[in-house]
Amino acid sequence: SPRIGVLALQGDVREHVRTLRSLGADTASVRRAEDLAGVDGVVLPGGESSVIDKLARSFGLAEPLTESIRAGLPVYGTCAGLILLADRLEDGIVGQRTFGGIDATVRRNAFGGQVESFETALSVPSLGGPPVEATFIRAPLVVETGPDVEVLATLDDGGVVAVRHGNAIGTAFHPEVTGERRFHELFLAIVDAASPSEKA
Ligand code: GLN
Repeated sequence: SPRIGVLALQGDVREHVRTLRSLGADTASVRRAEDLAGVDGVVLPGGESSVIDKLARSFGLAEPLTESIRAGLPVYGTCAGLILLADRLEDGIVGQRTFGGIDATVRRNAFGGQVESFETALSVPSLGGPPVEATFIRAPLVVETGPDVEVLATLDDGGVVAVRHGNAIGTAFHPEVTGERRFHELFLAIVDAASPSEKA
């Protein structure tokens, strides 16, 4: 089974671990550069992106993780994780950086003024099946995408909330908190396709 690293610096790590294990994946905590050895993919949890960014840099993880993503390591980021995957960030705190990997501009705390948190039934055509019960918690929004980015889901007003760029996927919401597993399944399919050694 694939070995999935879950970035475990801050945020809803346990929910991702539970979801990944329920789908048959092995999981490992990623805190330092050496933790990236032997993982087939990495999940970036929700939490506070500016804190995760700071910790990742002070642990010496930010650079190797950035490099691994650039080299094609499959990654899935939810909420703060999506922010960390954005090549361009709006409304970050001063000095905040991202690992990048998705050719998009993401606006942090995009719903902050009006509705801090909400749930909605989101249609995600590429996943098939019923709508996704999507939980948005001080969520970001994808405000611009490059030509190679596939939009997976939009809100009724057209706001982009789930994207894929190559081996990277990002959702502005948290499937891991509602028992929704289809995004993790998609991610594991990407991992499987990217790691031929697993198929021996
Ligand atoms: N607002 C948070 C941030 O900027 C993200 C919130 C979340 O992950 N639920 O990182």
